[in-house]
Amino acid sequence: MVERKRGAGKKITEPAGKAPPSGDALARDLEDRKKRIREIIKILRKEYPRPRTALNYRTPFELLVATILAAQCTDDRVNKVTPGLFRKYPTVEAFARARQEELENDIRSTGFFRNKARSIIGLANKLVSEYGGRVPDSMEELVELPGVARKTANIVLSSAFKKAEGIAVDTHVRRLSGRLGLSCHDDPDKIERDLMEIVPRSDWLDFNFLLVDHGRKVCQARKPLCPQCVIKDLCPSFEKFSRLFSGRK
Ligand code: SF4
Repeated sequence: MVERKRGAGKKITEPAGKAPPSGDALARDLEDRKKRIREIIKILRKEYPRPRTALNYRTPFELLVATILAAQCTDDRVNKVTPGLFRKYPTVEAFARARQEELENDIRSTGFFRNKARSIIGLANKLVSEYGGRVPDSMEELVELPGVARKTANIVLSSAFKKAEGIAVDTHVRRLSGRLGLSCHDDPDKIERDLMEIVPRSDWLDFNFLLVDHGRKVCQARKPLCPQCVIKDLCPSFEKFSRLFSGRK
């Protein structure tokens, strides 16, 4: 079990997913997860017909910057900051020339602004010196950029380049993967490997956005709305969470 702290000092206990069985049982467990995920995706696609990032961007580079700013911050807040930011620094070269302190002030409201400013200036310099100012479109190259890990790379690849090289595991995908019994891990890279094993490749582009939409609207961190959840019949946490959260405001 994985425990997450809630507000006001209370704790919410998350299921860490089913522990994987062994031998034949392991194969059956895998088949069960594959079957369930297909159903889950089918239902979520009906519920959220336009799965896409909520971040506003015009170019792959703008999406890269916006995704870095979105770490530990809401997409709404990032969308308020980026229009002015991209007016002030209209090109990759302009970000490469930015002064650390000044950029920190420009993005201060997104939190963790020192690290984010350092990453953005660092990656802009690398893009200018090694890629002629363009954003590369492969996982191997993207994760070599400062401040870019698989989650950010997956968002950029799937949204800006329509390339399915993996599945972005953010806080929503992590939480829902545990609740839905799709992965017994808490580490994002391990969760991604589990998901890539069971989610059909044709759904990789949209899978993150479907779970993010559902996580924001229904399967919320503090109070999942289980009774009205469209995938409750496929969720091993339904009964437990219904009991746990009934009557809680
Ligand atoms: S039934 Fe509850 S825990 Fe399961 S996916 Fe739906 S909201 Fe989340």
